[in-house]
Amino acid sequence: MSRIRSKGTKPELVLRRELHRIGYRFVTNLKSLPGTPDIVFSKRKKAVLVHGCFWHSHDCKWGSAVPATNVRFWSDKRSATVLRDERKIDELQAMGWKVFTVWECQLRRPEDVMPNVVGFLGAPR
Ligand SMILES: [Zn+2]
Repeated sequence: MSRIRSKGTKPELVLRRELHRIGYRFVTNLKSLPGTPDIVFSKRKKAVLVHGCFWHSHDCKWGSAVPATNVRFWSDKRSATVLRDERKIDELQAMGWKVFTVWECQLRRPEDVMPNVVGFLGAPR
């Protein structure tokens, strides 16, 4: 299971590549902020989180998949993840950060989600 939560998972890499291509500069996995946000734009005080649909219980077909075994175990684990996400986002916002969540399924078609990300961030400088 270790690879599921590892850093630099594929959807995150897809997003990072797109952001670089457009011309954004950012840092990744900033440990000094609550929840170690995936992609951080310090000067703008904005953070982008990349969430896997299954783990973070996205309202999509991958996020609502029910595992065949250990149903209770997975549902508890995923509920805990959702609560932790909410808490970390609250903490970041309380510190004056703006937070945007990008879902794994949206990054299957990055050209569709990138306008929203750019809208959140503002134009690259
Ligand atoms: Zn999804």
